[in-house]
Amino acid sequence: MLHVLFFLGGLIVGSFLNVVICRLPAGDSLVLPASLCPECRQRLAWYELVPVLSYLWQRGKCRHCGTAISLQYPLVELATGAAYLGLFLLLGLQPKLLTSLMFISLCIPIVVIDLDRQIIPDQLNLGGAVLGLLAAAVSHTAFTDVLAGGLAGGVIMLLIAIVSRGGMGGGDIKMMAWIGLFLGLKMTMLALFLSFVIGGLASLILILAGRKRRKDFIPFGPFLAAGGFTAYVFGPAILAWYVQNFLH
Ligand SMILES: [Zn+2]
Repeated sequence: MLHVLFFLGGLIVGSFLNVVICRLPAGDSLVLPASLCPECRQRLAWYELVPVLSYLWQRGKCRHCGTAISLQYPLVELATGAAYLGLFLLLGLQPKLLTSLMFISLCIPIVVIDLDRQIIPDQLNLGGAVLGLLAAAVSHTAFTDVLAGGLAGGVIMLLIAIVSRGGMGGGDIKMMAWIGLFLGLKMTMLALFLSFVIGGLASLILILAGRKRRKDFIPFGPFLAAGGFTAYVFGPAILAWYVQNFLH
């Protein structure tokens, strides 16, 4: 029963994250006006806003003007639902489940917005700082470690931004700072390492596949999210595996 609740809860949060993704970069209010079709501005009824199902029932089109609805809506809802269910199965009911849900709920809109527009809105980074401190309080992490993680994340990204001359933006620096608050110092180091390994491999694949050229800009927020979240959930297991296999 709880499985279903976590999945449905994730779908509903995902539906709100779609609002964040559409409205935050444009500077629009997250609450008002009520949901409209972006094309014909027709106000949508509740049965047109049911996560995933409305999209399927309407065959991906607005009921009023017939304009295709972006596949991004059901995909964000499904991804959030799957993440909530997956984290519940992985972690069970414990404080870390709550903080992991907060972490992933920030990462999903950041990844989509950064891929789409190459920006990370300040409001999301600020929200990350608030939730990161809250997560530290929930998990009783030593406050000095929380601050050290945030500082290390921000400063290291700042240095990389300076050295790479614009390869990283201010949004990436701020994002790694709040990820550091969630992680503490040790896991922040692992997160940076993982982000650059994943980012490097992904860039290499994109270049080899001819989708990007060497000098093209590739948004880094998705890699910080991937490295940071992996370190947050699997970090202790990864470090234990490393110590066992390489430090004997
Ligand atoms: Zn319409």
